[in-house]
Amino acid sequence: MTVKNILTVDLEDWFHICGVGSFIPRESWDSLESRVVENTTKLLDILGRAKTLATFFVLGSVAEKNPELIRKISGSGHEIASHGYAHRRVYTITPDLFRDDLRKSADILTGITGDKVKGYRAPEWSIKDGSMWALDILLEEGFQYDSSMAPLPIIGNPNYPAIPWKHRLSGGEMWEIPPLVGVTPLISLPFGGGWGLRTFPYSLIRSAIVKNNQKGMPSVIFLHPREFDINCPRVRLPLIKRFVLNASLESTEKRLERLLDDFELTTAADFISGRQA
Ligand SMILES: [Zn+2]
Repeated sequence: MTVKNILTVDLEDWFHICGVGSFIPRESWDSLESRVVENTTKLLDILGRAKTLATFFVLGSVAEKNPELIRKISGSGHEIASHGYAHRRVYTITPDLFRDDLRKSADILTGITGDKVKGYRAPEWSIKDGSMWALDILLEEGFQYDSSMAPLPIIGNPNYPAIPWKHRLSGGEMWEIPPLVGVTPLISLPFGGGWGLRTFPYSLIRSAIVKNNQKGMPSVIFLHPREFDINCPRVRLPLIKRFVLNASLESTEKRLERLLDDFELTTAADFISGRQA
């Protein structure tokens, strides 16, 4: 049986970037040009042509401003999951604030679609050593899976498992859906999305996906609407952030189309329901 891989999107605007408060202050977000509807529509068209469903981790504040967009995504059969409300890294806030942010986002999303939200992805993979308490809160709030722990250096921890696995928490079990990484003897690299998916040779990414599939496990791809926007506003940012955000933006669409040609992709909820059956 062929393994279906998992396609995910962090649904946010181009300026929702962690750790650049001195370049794009949070207070300026409301006055910046929103490009999320246009960019997401482009992505939805590609997925529609390929008859492929994805999980959209939607930022609550974006859903609040664009309920029609969320209805359109959900109406096309895609999964609506949560990316929190205010786009704050989990390890920078308290457990109480995390719970409030999570509830606020889930209430908005459920209010729009009528469906219960099953999954959560933290801004910038920010559930890691030091903020693991968030997993218990996710379970208490009724979430069935998390996708916030990157098996990568700096933003996560290369020792975290690189294929879907189950947390055993005091309140029960919960799936963790980590992003695809390329493991080399020196370093683990982000093959599943962002600059890694856009810049590494496609053959490397393809063989990393196949390797997981040979273990009977899916690989997890992650995209952002801003990556489909070659005219994305360029603001002054630190060099490394500029590279991570902008390198090879012109190749996002082609990469996605190759993946859609070569592999069967589906939602995280679809994977989990198959494993629980
Ligand atoms: Zn984000």
